[in-house]
Amino acid sequence: MSPLSALVLQASGLHRSTAVTALHHLGYSFLSAVSSNAIALDRMRSQGGVHLLICDVRIDPVACLELLQTVARERLAHGVVVSGEMAPGTWSALSHLLQLQGMRVFWLGNDAATLERLRALLSDFQPSGGQLGLPLAEAATDDDREAAGPLARGKLRAYLQPKANVDTAQIYGFEVLARWQLEDGAVLLPGEFLSALRRSGRLDGMLFELMTQAVEALRAQGNNELKLSFNLEPEQIAQTGFAAAVERNLRGLDIDPRRITFELTESSPLHAPALSLENVLRLRLLGCGLAIDDFGCGHSTLQRLMELPFTELKLDRHLLADVNNGDPRRLIVLRNALALGRELGLRVIAEGVENAAQLRQLQQLGCDCAQGYLFGAPLDASQIGTFLRGAPLRLQKLEAVQALRPAN
Ligand code: C2E
Ligand code: CA
Ligand code: CA
Repeated sequence: MSPLSALVLQASGLHRSTAVTALHHLGYSFLSAVSSNAIALDRMRSQGGVHLLICDVRIDPVACLELLQTVARERLAHGVVVSGEMAPGTWSALSHLLQLQGMRVFWLGNDAATLERLRALLSDFQPSGGQLGLPLAEAATDDDREAAGPLARGKLRAYLQPKANVDTAQIYGFEVLARWQLEDGAVLLPGEFLSALRRSGRLDGMLFELMTQAVEALRAQGNNELKLSFNLEPEQIAQTGFAAAVERNLRGLDIDPRRITFELTESSPLHAPALSLENVLRLRLLGCGLAIDDFGCGHSTLQRLMELPFTELKLDRHLLADVNNGDPRRLIVLRNALALGRELGLRVIAEGVENAAQLRQLQQLGCDCAQGYLFGAPLDASQIGTFLRGAPLRLQKLEAVQALRPAN
């Protein structure tokens, strides 16, 4: 476990030395104290981040806000203690913004950073000796750990499932699905851990971590074209500053927003509809796509389809299941759902495509894209290179199957 590190950014020399002494007693052995924002940033970058930053907004509130946003975006600290005075309302907005980016935030106010004060303030802060840049597991509090059960151990992993063009069977992108890998190698599915993350307010931390893993996996293959989609829950888009936080993340990852699509499920009425719409609009204006997920049998409804500016419609896999059961009603529903998507100008993606018969039917119906085990199951981001290298061979096999299809 690496030694605990902290950086103290305080204008007053007396405050700096009080904080350093207190932190030393709290077990931080790697300490630096500076009086300027620029030096603080340089120091944190050169150290690869610190566990804790103590930052004084009195130095220059606006510059301080910029500094904290950079620290959050670049994940240069697990937690930050903010001292000084702030106008009413600005503290909650600032702390919310930083928490959205996965940081733990503490408010010291005008108090000096004495041992007693810091001990009380940081009582539930568990700076881990692990790698910075993984705030999800590292910044968990005891409460979170209890709520998260097995999530206290193991780590979040991005799994990627290919999406293909129905006519050519070419892979054009991946949906990123969350997995939790336990220390013994067992892998948990979203149904087993999402509610714990939701309860402990860590859905955004998870999203940003998945984005980083997925973008880096494609970049490691020198790929700058394949698209990525991520799942969002309605409560996420109802948060102030959500779209701005996503925007900063995408900028930090240096990825073209037009390669990113967000998938939205659930039919429950939108929380804070105006705010949700504002966030979604901002993401769309940035160039990101927006998909309505599980359309047809899942959770998504016609009302949701009319509420938000979608670019894609994902047909629930149950609409495709059992192509050969001869029930004409299923085909009518599928055909009409496709027509609805097309008439609304949306790209239609069929989910759960498991066999060539289903693909043939989608080709006949003129569906744009498909996703399912026929093209590939979700796979760990670290295996994406092997998958992409095997794509031409898989395509040949698929074409051979397709060549056998009866003429219509
Ligand atoms: P979803 O977004 O509809 O994801 C597709 C689910 O169908 C995935 O299950 C995937 O493994 C499964 N699937 C893919 N192809 C096939 C197929 O050919 N046949 C069958 N039978 N199943 C297939 P998974 O990974 O267990 O995810 C379940 C749900 O959990 C997702 O449904 C999504 O709603 C949610 N989820 C997953 N990752 C995230 C995430 O990062 N954030 C949020 N908010 N939700 C997520
Ligand atoms: Ca999805
Ligand atoms: Ca789906």
